[in-house]
Amino acid sequence: MLNPSYDCIVIGGGPAGSTAAALVAEAGFSTLLVERETHPRPHVGESLMPESYWVFERLGVLEELDRMKSFAKKVGVQFVNNTGRESQPFFFRSHDPRPCSETWHVLRSEFDQLLFNNAAKKGATCIDNTRVLDVHLTGDRATGVSLQTADGPLQNISAQVIIDATGQHSLIANKLGLKKVNPELKKAAIWRHYRGAKRDESGGGVKTLVMHTTDAKCWFWYIPQGNDLVSVGLVGNHEFLLKGRGTPEETFEEELAKCHGAKVRVKDAEPCDDLRVVKEFSYTTTRSAGDGWTLVGDAWGFIDPVYSSGVYFALQSAMMGADSVIAALKSGDTSAAKVGAWVEEFSTATRWVRKLVNAFYSGRFRVGKFVMEHPEHAAGLTDLLIGRIFGPNTGKIFDDLEPWMEQMDPMSDVEVEVAGAPVLA
Ligand SMILES: Cc1cc2nc3c(=O)[nH]c(=O)nc-3n(C[C@H](O)[C@H](O)[C@H](O)COP(=O)(O)OP(=O)(O)OC[C@H]3O[C@@H](n4cnc5c(N)ncnc54)[C@H](O)[C@@H]3O)c2cc1C
Repeated sequence: MLNPSYDCIVIGGGPAGSTAAALVAEAGFSTLLVERETHPRPHVGESLMPESYWVFERLGVLEELDRMKSFAKKVGVQFVNNTGRESQPFFFRSHDPRPCSETWHVLRSEFDQLLFNNAAKKGATCIDNTRVLDVHLTGDRATGVSLQTADGPLQNISAQVIIDATGQHSLIANKLGLKKVNPELKKAAIWRHYRGAKRDESGGGVKTLVMHTTDAKCWFWYIPQGNDLVSVGLVGNHEFLLKGRGTPEETFEEELAKCHGAKVRVKDAEPCDDLRVVKEFSYTTTRSAGDGWTLVGDAWGFIDPVYSSGVYFALQSAMMGADSVIAALKSGDTSAAKVGAWVEEFSTATRWVRKLVNAFYSGRFRVGKFVMEHPEHAAGLTDLLIGRIFGPNTGKIFDDLEPWMEQMDPMSDVEVEVAGAPVLA
């Protein structure tokens, strides 16, 4: 039985929504978390960034994550270029030996359910299989939502603050026309899980692999998980992958044949679910808060997944957003300035990852060469890959990287080097 009114309603029970709801409820405010699907539900986005550690610590879920059999310890990243040459693995611990430098590859159905259940443990009222149909706005002020449970009547529920964590569904941003899609990064992904694919556990855990196809038009992710599963995903321009070609299955197989690194790893493996196709357009929102509402996670913005930053950004934005909402509720002032107080710091920090994504797709990002010529930037680059983006020196690498890339020829059918480390012979 839902109340007619809450201090805070969080829409969307993914990582962002469950984090925000847990923290607002823990601070003593009545909180409703609404998820339209039924947990556990599948989701793309299984490789985490190490800096998620601090959000997990605050949520109190580190031990639970560590116990999950379906998750695998992620200790680094590795890149394979379009000629099939493999970089040295890039181990996070060699940069910083603390436990916070490592993270997990997760099965999102179980990961998202764990966080959803954690929000309930912290005191939030959590319901799934229930869809928020609309957010009520009076002028710019959000006053509540209408929602539809699976078998009940339509209900109107009021709240002092609404946190929109609806992911790419972007309920408020779509309603108010706030979404700004980056025309350069209109991508799609085709992905599935395999059982029995190759695993490399050197360094005490698994690595996320990013592997180019021979013509460098696409790349594959390779994310080994627990229970002998590996997630393999193809990413390329939306038009290139989905227009005027065969079925997604045919396109996936054609591109797999062009990706030596992925092909040899799945050669003897069995696909164990159907291929899924997801749109992957990078976007920002022109406004992230109004009176009584704020956007967190993918509802705030989406950055191409090449550096596995999405879940970390979802967790971090939700934690920072929740802190602003808690302060606003405590002060009795839930204006846009108060509930959105977190936005500037977060937007400034995350733009460095956006820049790194743009560098990746520019075809001029020969990082091994760059780091050799500018060893003073190796640590700064690793910080970006780990997600350490809030320090005062973050982004210094671009002072030299951008002019350096200007002198590089864009690469397409020549050898692409995407890794920070020397290639293996
Ligand atoms: C191809 C691809 C690969 C990716 N790979 C990675 C990766 O390796 N690592 C990584 O960190 N990130 C990755 N990401 C990004 C990652 O998936 C997202 O950034 C992350 O899931 C965002 O979390 P969220 O909580 O904001 O949104 P979501 O996880 O999408 O959760 C939003 C929730 O809101 C619910 N919802 C929507 N509308 C309503 C409504 N009206 N009422 C109630 N509930 C609603 C949805 O059902 C959903 O459960 C990838 C993304 C793509 C597209």
